[in-house]
Order: sequence, then structure tokens, then C-alpha cells
Amino acid sequence: MSNLFKHNFGAGPCILPEQVLSRAAEAVKSWAPAGLSILEISHRSPQFEGVMQETESLVRELLNVPDSYSVLFLQGGASMQFCMVPMNFLQKSKKEAVYLDAGYFGQKAIKEARLFGRVNVIASSKDRAYEDIPRDYRVPGEAAYFHCTSNNTIEGTEMFRFPETDVPIVCDMSSDIFSREIDVSKFDLIYAGAQKNTGPAGMTLVIAKNSFLDSVKHPVPSMLDYRVYRDNGSMYNTPPVFAIYTAMLNLQWLKSKGGIKMIAHENRAKAQLLYDEIDRNPLFYGSAVKWNRSLMNITFRMHDVAKEKKFLEFAEKSGMVGIRGYRTVGGFRASLYNALPYDSVKALVASMRAYAEKHHASIIPAY
Ligand SMILES: *Cc1c(COP(=O)(O)O)cnc(C)c1O
Repeated sequence: MSNLFKHNFGAGPCILPEQVLSRAAEAVKSWAPAGLSILEISHRSPQFEGVMQETESLVRELLNVPDSYSVLFLQGGASMQFCMVPMNFLQKSKKEAVYLDAGYFGQKAIKEARLFGRVNVIASSKDRAYEDIPRDYRVPGEAAYFHCTSNNTIEGTEMFRFPETDVPIVCDMSSDIFSREIDVSKFDLIYAGAQKNTGPAGMTLVIAKNSFLDSVKHPVPSMLDYRVYRDNGSMYNTPPVFAIYTAMLNLQWLKSKGGIKMIAHENRAKAQLLYDEIDRNPLFYGSAVKWNRSLMNITFRMHDVAKEKKFLEFAEKSGMVGIRGYRTVGGFRASLYNALPYDSVKALVASMRAYAEKHHASIIPAY
């Protein structure tokens, strides 16, 4: 093992703050409130109920969640939401569900929805290799819900505007929740796998409008029924105790940093630094169109594809981890989640410059 400092640009599970990791590690050995390991306490103990309450109130406070919404902790990842959403809100409905196809995860959601009812894919950027998010579409007024993905983790595009519609909006926010300010009241249901800004893998966060949940009239299996989670404080069965505890630590960290406003400011600065380099360095170019460029997952390529493998090796030798693009997409992806320090982005930029200089691509203007 080398002692090389590692800059973790992994797309998920992703980097967590140092202090969150050390506090989680301590709690595995012995968690003071219970005098036992966090891994061996009852989820029904008053101490853990305190964790559930605090995690929920941190979510509510950080995202400014209205009282008319429930905050739920589930398992099964964001991927289980792909079927759970249509099972609850499309099955038995006379209406169709409207989906926006802007990437790999949206496609997976569409595939599951088709098992439960009529699906209308209102717009797609597939024939443009998902380099943008479709903008010119209108959500039909009579739909069960409209589904979109706020940040396309693999393609590196992000939605900065959501349609104005009376149709309930369901949004997969797995990879940009807690990274920027959002108006929760514009959505009827938000879901997010935890491992990309919320905490470790194993927990799925759902924020849902109660009236939307109550619109479900047909029976749904208990473990796939949002109301069962709501009515049992997310403890119908054993919740993912350690994942929720670690998410709580991470949200405490976020709050102590100044909350979403502060982190969004830092996230914009980190993304700007890297996009500026991508645009100025003659060897690289960005994969996504500029107006949809993600602030969380930055995808880029080299004009000379043959050099991509060499640059990857070069960057890895300087401590960059997780910058290889998704297996079906290629190129590079640097994920700049909340816990990634600005200095790590500087280090990546430095290695891009060093590589360009080494290859005499010297038309780079100085800072
Ligand atoms: C990672 C990701 C998923 C899949 O999440 P799992 O928790 O692995 O099921 C779905 N949607 C988006 C936007 C993601 O980034």
C-alpha cells in the first residue's frame, strides 16, 4: 500500500467527511448513548429513536421541508423507487405517467413503470447521446405524475429548471440532493439513494407530500407502500440503523458548515474551477452542453481518444481516484460531491495541466 494522498472523485458510494468517518468508526466500537456498539442496539431503543428524530429534523431543516410532507427512510436504493413509484401511483390509475428520458437512470425508471401502466415518454435526448436535458415539452394536464431525474450522474447533466405544471412531480434526486437549494413544495415526491451526498449506501431517503400518498387507494404490499413507512415512523421493520446513523452525522456536518447555501456556493466554485480547465486545456472537452452542465458529476473527454488511458494512469499516479467515466460511456467523470475538498479539484486541474505540458500542448493561457 502506498501512502499517496487520495483524492476521491468516486461517483457513489462517494467521499464522506473525515470527521463523519471517525465518529462512525467510534460508534461501531462503542456508542456512548447506549454503552454498546451502534451495530448491536435495538432499533426500538429510545437512544435510536432519538437518532431517527434527529435525522428527520436535519432533513427538514436543511431542505426546508413543509409540514405537509413526510420524511421517510427506506431501503432498496433509488432503484427500488423505480418500481415503487409506479406501483403506488400508476397501477390501477386511469391516467398515464409522463417520464422525461434524459439518461441511464431515467431509462431504468421508465422500464419499471411500464410494468404497471401506461407510460408516456414526453421527451428524450437519447439521440443526442444525452448531452443535454430536453427542454421543449409540455406536461399533459391529465397525468398521474411527471417523473424526472434532477442530476444525471452518468452523463453529467443537471436540471436547473423544472416544468410548471399541476401534475404531481416525482423526482430522482439521488446525486444532487443536499448540494443546492431546491423548493421542496414544487415536488410531490422526491427520492434519493443515500450514497451520493446523504451518507453511506443502504438507506433511501423519500420526501413526499402527504396528500399525494393519501391519493393511493388500491392495496400495495406493505414493504412497498409509502403509507406504511409513514404510519410506522419508518420502523415497520428494522431500518438500516448504521446507514441512518452515519447519514445523521453527515447532515450534522453539513449543518455545521452553514447548510445548503454555503455548500452550494462551494460546489459552484469547485465545478467552475474544473470546467474552466476543461474549456481552456487543448487536450480536453466537456461531454455535456454548457447550459446543462452538472455541478456534481463532471464528464469530459480527450480529443485524442487514444490518450485517455494514458492520462488516466498519469492522474492515478498523482492520487486521483474514481475519475474513469461510466463503463458504457467512457472518457472521464469527476464527481465533486459535498465532502470533496476544493484542493482535490485543484490537484486534478494541476494534473491535467501537467499532462498537457508534458505533451507540449502549450497553448494554455496562464491563470
Ligand atoms: C446512483 C443512482 C441511482 C441508483 O441508485 P441505487 O441506490 O444504487 O439504486 C439512481 N438514480 C440516480 C440519479 C443515481 O445517481
